Amino acid sequence: MYCTKCGSLLTKKFLKMEGMIHFCPSCNEYVFEKTNVAVSMIILNPEETKMLYIKQYGTGKFRLVAGYTNKGESLEHTVYREMGEEIGRYPASIEFNMSKYFEPSNTLIANYICKLTSMEVFPNEEVDEYEWIDLEDAQAKINHAKLAKIFVNEYFNKKIKKWELITFIFCALYDKIRLRV
Ligand SMILES: [Zn+2]
Repeated sequence: MYCTKCGSLLTKKFLKMEGMIHFCPSCNEYVFEKTNVAVSMIILNPEETKMLYIKQYGTGKFRLVAGYTNKGESLEHTVYREMGEEIGRYPASIEFNMSKYFEPSNTLIANYICKLTSMEVFPNEEVDEYEWIDLEDAQAKINHAKLAKIFVNEYFNKKIKKWELITFIFCALYDKIRLRV
């Protein structure tokens, strides 16, 4: 690893509370490793019955709409900007799903669940193809993409938990009413 300021080869030096940290002998400074930040989106139709997958860069494989966070930008802003750029639509609602570190590109990816008010999309030239996938096929069709699959699985876990809670409340209320009659 080299110093991004002066290009010198970094050594390691002990830093209290932190441990062994990269150190630039010419700048006489500790160098902390940085990570890239990106967002990816689970985009849903208004009825929440379909998920939008896209194909990009000639790979022919489905992926989620995603993009890197720019300097000075919030994660939510990145979601709006990337969706506007790639599919020409802005989300009606956005909800944090989960985040995961992706080692090959040294990127921390935050995944959001985004709902649209219609299924109309206007993809830009970066998008080869897009498809609205039925929810029951959503997991199988993203099987090849390790991280996207984790995000999609988590979306379904959350959905099941939500329904379990609604069912629980409904049954509890029903029991209360029934006992009174
Ligand atoms: Zn340096």
